[in-house]
Amino acid sequence: MQSLEAFADEKLASLDAKSLRRRLKPSRRHDGAVVERDGRRLISFSCNDYLGMAHHPLVRAAAAEAALNYGAGAAASRLVTGDHPLLSDLEKGLARLKGTEAACVFGSGYLANLGVIPTLVGPGDVILVDALAHACIWAGAQLSGARIVPFAHNDMADLERRLGAERPRARRALVATDGVFSMDGDIAPLDQLSVLCQAHDAWLLSDDAHGVGVLAQGRGSGALFPEAKIPLQMGTLSKALGSYGGYLCGSRAVVDLLKTRARTLVYATGLPPASAGAALAALDIINADPGLTETPLAKARLFTRRLGLPDAESPIVPVIFGGAEAALAASAALENLGFLVVAIRPPTVPEGTARLRLAFSAVHDDADVIRLADAIAHLRKVAA
Ligand SMILES: *Cc1c(COP(=O)(O)O)cnc(C)c1O
Repeated sequence: MQSLEAFADEKLASLDAKSLRRRLKPSRRHDGAVVERDGRRLISFSCNDYLGMAHHPLVRAAAAEAALNYGAGAAASRLVTGDHPLLSDLEKGLARLKGTEAACVFGSGYLANLGVIPTLVGPGDVILVDALAHACIWAGAQLSGARIVPFAHNDMADLERRLGAERPRARRALVATDGVFSMDGDIAPLDQLSVLCQAHDAWLLSDDAHGVGVLAQGRGSGALFPEAKIPLQMGTLSKALGSYGGYLCGSRAVVDLLKTRARTLVYATGLPPASAGAALAALDIINADPGLTETPLAKARLFTRRLGLPDAESPIVPVIFGGAEAALAASAALENLGFLVVAIRPPTVPEGTARLRLAFSAVHDDADVIRLADAIAHLRKVAA
C-alpha cells in the first residue's frame, strides 16, 4: 500500500507544480445565477444551466412529484425493472423535439457516448473524431476498439482527405463531433459534415450537449442546418434542461439496437424518476416558450459586442489567456468583484490555451453581463 500513497502524492505534487491540480469547492446554487461559496454569494458565469431550469419552480415540482410517485431510484437496469413510465414519455418528447423516429435515454451524456459508439463500431472499423470533441466521445471511441483518426477542428478539407484514405480499409465508419464545442462555443459545419459522410458512407454522430434548448428554438445545432442528415443526435438532459441524464435520438432501428446492446444501458441502473420528471417539465416549458431559448445567445452577444470580440455563435464564449496561471489569476480577480468564472486548464483544453470559459444564461441580468465584460476588458489590458 505504501507504493500506492507514494504514487498519489507524487502525482499531486507534479500537478501542483504546473498549476494543474484541481480541487472541489463546495458550492450552493441559488435562484438566478447565484452560487454561494465560503459564505460569499457570486454571480456565476460557469453553470451550464442555460435557461435557469434547475431552479425553475415547475421543474423542481416535477422532480419532487416524480420521486414521490415512482421512488427515489430506478432500482435496476432499464432492461430488468428500471424502465419506469416517465422514461418512455421523455423519449417521445426528445424524439419530437429533434424530429427523429425514436430516442434512447441513458444515465448521463457521458454514459450515452460510452454506450452508443461501441455499439456501432468496433475492431476493423474507423472512427474519425474532431480534435476538440468532448472527452466522452474519445472515451467511447477508445472503448470501441475501432481505429481512431482525429481530424483538425472543423476542417472539412482535412476530414475529406482522411476519409478518402481510411474509408476503403474499414468495414464501417463513424464521424463524431460536438455540435456546439463545449470549451469554444463554436458550431460544427453539420451541413458539410453531412455531405462528406453521405459521400463516404460514414455515419455522423453529433453531440449537441450545448445546443439543445438554446439554438433553433431549442431544437439544437442540427436544426440550424435543415438540409443536414444527422442520423445520430446525442445530447444531455444536464445542461439547458436543468436535470441529469443523456440521450441519443435517431431511427427506430438504431434505438432498438442500443436498447438491447449498449453496455451503459444494459449494465447500469436506469435514470432516476426525479431526473426524468424534471427533464419532461423543462421540455414542456421550452415547447411553450421558444422565445426563452433565444435569450442565452442574446446575452452572449451582448458580451462579445461590448468586448469587441467576434459575435458569439452559442451561449459559450472563451476568453483565452494562454498559461494556466494567468487564467487562474484572472478568475481570482473576477471573484473579488463578485463573479464566478472558473478557469479552464489543460487537459480539458489544449496546452497553451488556458482560458476563462463563460456560459451565458437566460437568468443573467444585462447589467451584470456588461459589468463582467468591462472587468474582463480591464484584465486583458493589464495582461497585455
Ligand atoms: C457535458 C457534456 C457531455 C456529458 O454530459 P453529462 O450529461 O454531463 O454526462 C457530453 N458531451 C459534451 C459536449 C458535453 O459538454
